[in-house]
Amino acid sequence: MIPERKTRTIHVRDLAIGGSAPIAVQSMTATRTIDLEATKQQVRLLEAAGADLIRIAADTPADVEALRAIRAGTDARLSVDLQENYRLATEVAPLVDKIRYNPGHLHHHEKSRSIADKVAYLVDTATTHNCAIRIGVNAGSIAPDYLAKFADDEQGHASAIVASAVDHCELLDNLGFANYVVSIKDSDPRIVIETNTRFAAARPDVPLHLGVTEAGMPPDGIIKTRIAFEQLLSQGIGDTLRVSLTVPFADKGLEVKTGRDIIHDIKNGRFRSVPKGFFDGLNIISCPSCSRVENEAFIDLAQDIKRITQDALEEDITIAVMGCRVNGPGETDDADIGLWCGAKKVNLKRGTETLGAYGYDEILERVREEFDRQVASK
Ligand code: SF4
Repeated sequence: MIPERKTRTIHVRDLAIGGSAPIAVQSMTATRTIDLEATKQQVRLLEAAGADLIRIAADTPADVEALRAIRAGTDARLSVDLQENYRLATEVAPLVDKIRYNPGHLHHHEKSRSIADKVAYLVDTATTHNCAIRIGVNAGSIAPDYLAKFADDEQGHASAIVASAVDHCELLDNLGFANYVVSIKDSDPRIVIETNTRFAAARPDVPLHLGVTEAGMPPDGIIKTRIAFEQLLSQGIGDTLRVSLTVPFADKGLEVKTGRDIIHDIKNGRFRSVPKGFFDGLNIISCPSCSRVENEAFIDLAQDIKRITQDALEEDITIAVMGCRVNGPGETDDADIGLWCGAKKVNLKRGTETLGAYGYDEILERVREEFDRQVASK
């Protein structure tokens, strides 16, 4: 039930992705990279769960040193996630097998340097160290020039994401670099389906990494992911995937297991029907955590928010819970109620407006007040 895929095959060390290769399942460490023991434990846990590739974020020189120690202790295939600090590529490339960069984060540093020049630097670094590249476009961090370009387009959001991915492929093509994959992620599976389908039509040769970002907690996070993967994989779209779930760090192997289960079910023609009204009513989005997480308590907080809103599932309200100050502020802008979690305080938002910062012991009450206020005003 998974049709033959038309993409070219790329290599992440000895792992083939694309073409007739099996669909690779990957995951990411959820702990702070500099917390060496915890991150080594995550790598072991994900490897034991069967991850083909394990991603680790590196934002600082201290993260690079931690990555060096992690590399020394494992043979697992590693991918590095470069966020805004793309210039760390020189240091991390010798330690990993793949580099992920986000086109929407390249404008933050060295503003006078062109995006094309920054991409050329990344390609040069990847080539030198025999790394693959992932062009990882994320709906929560679209490059500003693409947002501006499609501001008047009715489908501007989806068009900006797809155009950004297609243009970056062209940059890599023009540099003669072919060992790359693309990912286009959104927290809404319907947008994931639409944008990946459009991208696959534009670039049928480029392998795709599938994912629903910030899918949230099980079971809803798994249902959202299934909806997207079933639609795409059954059309022959998707060569590797990652399931993003908000679960305690010790349970991260569930991401790999879920990815493998979904592939297995699709191969055997087992599709799940979307629960009636799944896209109506309360929607809780939450991030899977990564090296930037500031307090693991945000996972309990996400679960508590789910618990205290169970009596109002029919309310058409979106709540977003994010684990850090890097992506949290931007990725909560579209939610009715947004929370981005720092080390000691949780920042509460109503749309783009900040309402205040509250301790972990006082935030639940504030969320419920805001929730009730929004319900009453509808
Ligand atoms: S919101 Fe922050 S902590 Fe959560 S996955 Fe994104 S970057 Fe990592």
